[in-house]
Amino acid sequence: MSGLYERHRAVTPDWLSLYYREPLEITHGEGRHVWDAEGRKYLDFFGGILTTMTAHALPEVTKAVAEQAGRIIHSSTLYLNRPMVELAERIAGLSGIPDARVFFTASGTEANDTALLLATTYRRSNQILAMRNSYHGRSFSTVGITGNRSWSPTSLSPLQTLYVHGGVRTRGPYAQYTDERFTDACVADLEDLLGHTRGVAALIAEPVQGVGGFTSPPDGLYAAFRRVLDRHGILWISDEVQTGWGRTGDHFWGWQAHGQAGPPDILTFAKGIGNGMSIGGVVARAEIMNCLDAHSISTFGGSPVTMAAGLANLSHLLEHDLQGNARRVGGLLIERLRAAAAGVDAVREVRGRGLMIGIELADPVTGRADPDAAAAVLEATRENGLLIGKGGGHDTSALRVAPPLSLTVAEAEEGAGILEQALRSL
Ligand code: PMP
Repeated sequence: MSGLYERHRAVTPDWLSLYYREPLEITHGEGRHVWDAEGRKYLDFFGGILTTMTAHALPEVTKAVAEQAGRIIHSSTLYLNRPMVELAERIAGLSGIPDARVFFTASGTEANDTALLLATTYRRSNQILAMRNSYHGRSFSTVGITGNRSWSPTSLSPLQTLYVHGGVRTRGPYAQYTDERFTDACVADLEDLLGHTRGVAALIAEPVQGVGGFTSPPDGLYAAFRRVLDRHGILWISDEVQTGWGRTGDHFWGWQAHGQAGPPDILTFAKGIGNGMSIGGVVARAEIMNCLDAHSISTFGGSPVTMAAGLANLSHLLEHDLQGNARRVGGLLIERLRAAAAGVDAVREVRGRGLMIGIELADPVTGRADPDAAAAVLEATRENGLLIGKGGGHDTSALRVAPPLSLTVAEAEEGAGILEQALRSL
């Protein structure tokens, strides 16, 4: 790294924490692989959820970006913008939301901020329901609805937030519950909360908690919540920043695992839709989207160059049925990882959907979450040429596996082998 880490530390905030004892400088990528500054090659089992939904350096996206950048990048909100209209039309059609309107932002944080602006204005209330262990962004308003306290550095939120059970089951009193009993308990908890509160604006939830360690509620939980919310006129915001675009395999959106509940009133998206170009956005039915009675614009949201990337990436995703690939290869990968983890005492659970797989680690003696074990697996897999992520509750004790959606069976097999070796050396 030739002193780059020291220079990074000297000019960036201390709360920007990098992965690995010796942080990695990634200099280029192709397909599901990336290379570091020393020329070492890694299989990338994490970039898929961060930026690279389909594949690194996807030729169609690179070409679309270069062509659009060479033609014009101008304001996306003051003049007509063809790529933006085309991508908005496609996303509105895919969203499942009737009479859908789309507003583009430059990040997931800004998308959720916009969703909060809409919901609180529409309902004339600053009260929000959010899930424990959730992550929704880094702005002042979104840290105020982020249940994962290790990502929520202030308590001076402009919102009044009530935290609901449902996102995580591996810890605490719910660990032994069946799906049905857990759902009933969470619904009872929600009803109890609402019995003491008036005029809540919205519930915001990630269908599968991302930063929280890829934990899924039982299918149908949000359908059960929705019946309660509807009685109170409370909106449902589905944060699909990590779960959208087929990542979960069986469904295009995470909310669809709760079939009878959907579609949500407001859907937010970001991350991989631009395959690394900064696209975020909000979809809502017109009545909600149009509740603002003042102008609102974004300089970079909907930029023609990011929209061109989004269109090329979305076309590639649909034409190559990468959702189906996530289902097939993800299904094989999770089975392979379950087999690898069998007999490793430190693994409490291998869970997931599609290409969004979490491995929860705990101390086999005390049963406590084990962030040191997660850090050790991250180092060991890196040594052997595999990049994975970590996450979880306040203690970062889950490993996260989320490759680009074009992962092949051979690559799944190769990565699982490296992970198996690291888990067995714990
Ligand atoms: N929502 C979820 C579910 C996320 O995982 C993230 C990012 N980790 C965000 C919102 C915020 O997105 P961004 O980092 O683009 O602001």
